[in-house]
Amino acid sequence: MPELTTARPASPAASGDGPSGDGPSVVWFRDDLRLSDNPALHAAIERGRSVVVVYVLDEQSPGIRPLGGAARWWLHGSLRSLAASLERLGATLTLRRGPAEPVITELAASVGAGAVFWNRRYGAAEREIDARLKAALSSGGIETRSFAGSLLFEPWTIRTGQDRPYSVFTPFWRSCTSGPPPRMPHPAPEAIPGLGGDLGGDLASDRLGDWALEPSHPDWAAGLREAWEPGEASAHHLLNSFLRDSLDEYADARDVPARAATSRLAPHLRWGEISPFQVWHATDAARARATGPAAASATRFLTELGWREFCYHTLFHAPELATVNIRREFDAFPWPPPDDRALRAWQQGRTGYPLVDAGMRELWRTGSMHNRVRMVVASFLTKNLLIDWREGERWFWDTLVDADPASNPFNWQWVAGSGADAAPYFRVFNPQLQAARFDPNGEYIRANVPEWGTDAYPVPIVDLGETRRAALAAYEHVKNTK
Ligand code: FAD
Repeated sequence: MPELTTARPASPAASGDGPSGDGPSVVWFRDDLRLSDNPALHAAIERGRSVVVVYVLDEQSPGIRPLGGAARWWLHGSLRSLAASLERLGATLTLRRGPAEPVITELAASVGAGAVFWNRRYGAAEREIDARLKAALSSGGIETRSFAGSLLFEPWTIRTGQDRPYSVFTPFWRSCTSGPPPRMPHPAPEAIPGLGGDLGGDLASDRLGDWALEPSHPDWAAGLREAWEPGEASAHHLLNSFLRDSLDEYADARDVPARAATSRLAPHLRWGEISPFQVWHATDAARARATGPAAASATRFLTELGWREFCYHTLFHAPELATVNIRREFDAFPWPPPDDRALRAWQQGRTGYPLVDAGMRELWRTGSMHNRVRMVVASFLTKNLLIDWREGERWFWDTLVDADPASNPFNWQWVAGSGADAAPYFRVFNPQLQAARFDPNGEYIRANVPEWGTDAYPVPIVDLGETRRAALAAYEHVKNTK
């Protein structure tokens, strides 16, 4: 496969005359790997100077969580796709690796940038980096602007009557949807004025392949490649086919794992290959055309986008979401000493509970798992195996292609009972009843656990009733120490 760009030595600073209002615009791509509805890119093109586009692989800045394996695989494909799309419009994606602050500062200086634009991120470490960069670049005379590209509603704008963040979803979403609708998406640009001249060809870039984002020894990504195609075009293809073929039935069929009834947009939204504004407006238009249950289905789908917003707003207000219980009384939860054997059985899909094992094997093979089954496996880990939700969150972080800094820890805390608007702790999902209800013919189970029903299938590693009682006793302990 050809590389994106040839690595060349860094070019000297643009004619040595430092930043100037006339200098090129740098667009720093992060979790927004798309050309259409990209407000930072849109503003850079509007600015009317040449545009430098850069992605920085930052694994060094303090507080930045290193990506998991499946996410790295996705990022490789997404950057390859983005680079090809940029190339078609006349721009070259520059790749740099290192702590983002010095990397962006150096790049801006080397091209004599007049402006640096990006779309906002919401994690604490990321926001600190962005704020310091903004201050430093602005004080050097470079116009620095950030834009809302990843969330429909900015977290600081949605507050309760007491001026506090919402901790319950329903009033949160009512508040979001009672104001003006989200802005319309920007169209895709038709051309991007590249640097050209001396600098254009000379801007140093890493080779994507040298980042080794894809696994090689062993190459475990065959199932991921079969299931997914990262990139903006594929995201729009999925959205369109979902709206055309599945939206009408979404409300009823979304809980049935054997049906392909959901949008599968999660990894595309995670990497910003499609924006929530684009999904919102396309769905809203479909809702306007629909009647009866189909319109209710569209509303239900938009509400799921609302959960994504709620996860991000929660992360914004509780930056340690992946490690610290939102409900601090859960700090007293008496987790037993780690049981590595049980954890491994769960990770490998060998617990002896077919729906749990089917989900865990689907995850390992495809980098994803149906939402209903995610809830079942998370409940099984935290309540039947009494293993800390953080262990499960870490495993999902490493194995999901949609591993998301907000949605993953939020949902783990939701299932464990320690989170915002969480499922009550005493609601323990029974994997056998869940299978009978949502996979009555065992279609999903058989597709993922071929040896189910034979002697080769493991016997259950725990008793559901006994472990449920132990979990409830542990919960009583939390309640009593409140
Ligand atoms: P659809 O049903 O088509 O929904 C459309 C979009 O709405 C999704 O793409 C997603 O962006 C959003 N959405 C739907 N449900 C949720 C939800 N519960 N929370 C937040 N956003 C939601 N989702 C992630 O994107 N990344 C994660 O790392 C992640 N980890 C999870 C961990 C656990 C334990 C659980 C129970 C759920 C997790 N989810 C996560 C939420 C949900 O399972 C996935 O978003 C969903 O399965 C993706 O499939 P889809 O795109 O077909 O969803």
